[in-house]
Amino acid sequence: MIKTLKIALDGPSGSGKSTIAKRLSKELDILYLDTGAMYRATALKALKLNVDTLDETGVLGFINDLDLNIKYENGSQQTYLDGENVSEKIREPQVSMAASNISSLKCVRLKMVEMQRKIAESVSCVLDGRDIGSFVLPNADFKFYITASVDVRAERRFKELKEKGFNVDFNSLKKEIEERDYNDSHREFAPLVKAKDAILIDTSNMNIEQVVACVMSHIK
Ligand code: C5P
Repeated sequence: MIKTLKIALDGPSGSGKSTIAKRLSKELDILYLDTGAMYRATALKALKLNVDTLDETGVLGFINDLDLNIKYENGSQQTYLDGENVSEKIREPQVSMAASNISSLKCVRLKMVEMQRKIAESVSCVLDGRDIGSFVLPNADFKFYITASVDVRAERRFKELKEKGFNVDFNSLKKEIEERDYNDSHREFAPLVKAKDAILIDTSNMNIEQVVACVMSHIK
């Protein structure tokens, strides 16, 4: 059997995981799976159906028949829900909090993790999320825990959302990030946690080139 390379990137919102994962995917020519997009799409489904994102019974009503597909078009991940490309829609600020809430439900996590493991099964890949090194791919070849101070993370998200044309208030965004951090690290099942064997990188005072170089130096 051909040996595949698996890389797990975990950390809180806005730590720069997705930018780093995209760069690794290009430089190493491996698949990139943004697992957050899957939780966001599930939250979007609940919002569409008017189901409370914390109501497990309500969510159980649709989760097993969820029509969610991850496709790669021109090398970039596209997220399809009910046949519609929702890759842009799932970035809307109200979907972020809904994703954080719905991701605390065990039935949702079990479904997402099953899909993620299937996608990652036979290919070399880098996955970013909250529980990749600790739960989804416990045997990953490399595990990194990427973090940064909450102020730096809020500033990065603020800039990113502004560039995408969203009208956001910095203080509300920072508060939302703090709430998501709390939710993600306090949920009962598969919380955000640094895997014991993960390498910690605090990117507060690093630019993206420095972080990529640091990660690559471990892999090479
Ligand atoms: O990474 P992103 O901010 O897009 O993720 C949205 C939400 O999905 C996170 O706040 C988190 O609650 C949830 N998530 C998760 N586990 C993952 C990826 C994302 O719980 N592996």
